Amino acid sequence: MTLAHKTTATVLVLCTLIAFTPAASAAKPQTRNRAEIPADVRWDFSAIYPNWQAWEAGMAEIEAKMEAFAKLKGSLAQGPAAVLRAYQGYDEIGKLQYLVYRYPQLQRDTDTRDQAVAARFQRVGAVFAKFDTATSWFTPELLKVPQATMEKWIADTPALSPYRFTILDNYRQQKHVLDEAGERLLSLASQFNRTPQATYQELSTSDIKFPSITLADGKEVTLSPGNYSALLESNPNQADRARAAAAHIGTYGATANTYAAIYNSLAQRDWFMAQARNFPTTLDAALDGNNIPRPVVETLVETTRAGTAPLQRYLKLKKKLLGLQEFHLYDNFVPVFRSDKTYPYEQARDAVLASVAPLGADYVAKYRRFVAGGRVDVYENEGKKSGAYSAGVYGVGPYLLLNHNDTLDSLFTLAHEGGHAMHTVLSYETQPFVTADYTIFVAEVASTTNERFLLEHLLKQTSDPKERFLLLQHSVQEIVNTFYTQVMFADFELQAHRRVEKGEPVTTEVLNTIYADLLKAYYGDAVTVDEFYKFTWSRIPHFFNTPYYVFQYATCFASSAQLFNAMNTGPQAERQAATERYLTLLKSGGNDHPMAQLKKAGVDLTQRATVQAVVEQMDALVTRMQAEAARVR
Ligand SMILES: [Zn+2]
Repeated sequence: MTLAHKTTATVLVLCTLIAFTPAASAAKPQTRNRAEIPADVRWDFSAIYPNWQAWEAGMAEIEAKMEAFAKLKGSLAQGPAAVLRAYQGYDEIGKLQYLVYRYPQLQRDTDTRDQAVAARFQRVGAVFAKFDTATSWFTPELLKVPQATMEKWIADTPALSPYRFTILDNYRQQKHVLDEAGERLLSLASQFNRTPQATYQELSTSDIKFPSITLADGKEVTLSPGNYSALLESNPNQADRARAAAAHIGTYGATANTYAAIYNSLAQRDWFMAQARNFPTTLDAALDGNNIPRPVVETLVETTRAGTAPLQRYLKLKKKLLGLQEFHLYDNFVPVFRSDKTYPYEQARDAVLASVAPLGADYVAKYRRFVAGGRVDVYENEGKKSGAYSAGVYGVGPYLLLNHNDTLDSLFTLAHEGGHAMHTVLSYETQPFVTADYTIFVAEVASTTNERFLLEHLLKQTSDPKERFLLLQHSVQEIVNTFYTQVMFADFELQAHRRVEKGEPVTTEVLNTIYADLLKAYYGDAVTVDEFYKFTWSRIPHFFNTPYYVFQYATCFASSAQLFNAMNTGPQAERQAATERYLTLLKSGGNDHPMAQLKKAGVDLTQRATVQAVVEQMDALVTRMQAEAARVR
């Protein structure tokens, strides 16, 4: 258990996937000077600390508590009272960690240029590192108490029951912990194990030189990732898009042999670590932390591969509406219709509140209180961090960062992040500290469910076919991005790693072939796949930074699709029961393994039907899109 890292909220990582488009229309207010933005749409940090002096006192307090905690070393075997004392001490430090971490971190994000805040934030990092080292004795010492003894202690000591799940999960994971000599040996490799990622980082960012091309209108553009994606979205000339794609992806292709060598070394490392810890496969090793059975990923991949028909139908519809002879992957970002409709923040806030009415008056009232002022940092300002996220402070509640620019995307971003924030609200008020944090495996269920509620709400509000088409397209595109694409990525990782496990070579040719075959399998004849797209694997940072991570986007999405169906179809009593189960899931924080939590909510990810729900949702949405498109013409 690495409590020190809990506060860095894994949720933050996940949300970076949700694309945030730069301002298309002016944000309101018309200033980028933070001081001129009304206080009620800016964060109020006083709920965390009244001032920096109080934060300094908090820093001193955490150091003192850490020292006191270190003195408990050697005491755990004394009995349940000693275990309880240690866990309670750990909790106190953990709660303080949230406060001392978030206070500078949130302020830094509102103005990343502020060096004084950045320096304070760095001090927190140093304290946390010290804590990690100072508490490294804790789990090994706990595990020296036999599991049966520990279970009896917990049963006999009611005050230990909130810690039951966390304590016993340590024993579960112990199966793959080696003896002291073995652990020491593995720990010596930990720096070295980061080499593939570090090498990838240098090659793909420091050393990469993106080419410039001249467009049909005579303008020259350097194809950096930002310029490249902007060009694909806004350039109506297909020939320009084609040349840009060939040049941009070709840049990676030019050093594909090096990327392949890095990927091979990474897969070899994963296989080495899996074998060293007695896992049958690399996938099993990757899934053990959250206790997820291997068939979840295998079923996800198989069911999605068999369910690509609606994806292909969507792409064919786009091809037709865009009037293209051939539809290429680089054509998928061009909007079919453009709209100048805006969604100012007040309207957006009212819409998201209205959309979740089916979740009940209590949920809505808490949501209303959360957005009432001080907890949502709404607008862009000089130096503010881009994108959007929700960050929890235990005992205080969530803080939500936006860069609302009145677009449809920013409206859905509010719904998404609001879903995370409300998950945090409900979990914090229900769970004790030790189980208050949820895993990313359930986090994106809360966010995507609220997006779905918003979609249905907005569709009810308008009869304009163009607007309805754009709303539906937004949702369909999200399924493409967070479901189909991520499953295809998981499929790639699985195939490449399996080759390594079987002792087969992983070369550029092998990786290119896996990727090209996947494009064929997922897009069929809906897309003309250009040769150079086979190099795409080399430009996916997730493959190199966090292997076996992306499938979680898809499982979250599938869970949310099934929950949404259950809450919105069938007899009233069943819908009501499904809604209660869903709210219980949100309130359960991290009090069990994510698969078990989802199962209690009615989602079984080992079943094909769960994944199939997304395929069916996609199919229904594409059908609705088709109908609206026919009305536009
Ligand atoms: Zn998210």
